[in-house]
Amino acid sequence: MNKIYIYNALTKTVHIKGLCPNGSEIGNELYETEDDIIKTKGKSFIMCQTCERKKEEILQKAVKI
Ligand SMILES: [Zn+2]
Repeated sequence: MNKIYIYNALTKTVHIKGLCPNGSEIGNELYETEDDIIKTKGKSFIMCQTCERKKEEILQKAVKI
């Protein structure tokens, strides 16, 4: 699996690769799944709202195919 989740330690926000401009890989930790982040960080992080919304859009499209 690709590591598509990007954890920004400064803002404690998780972005998804390619879904928003704030999800830079540079200087940030990468994870394969949300569970992996929880294992490492606990539940102290928040999901980026922009990335979450785009993820939902992508999943909605996938369901229709
Ligand atoms: Zn984001």
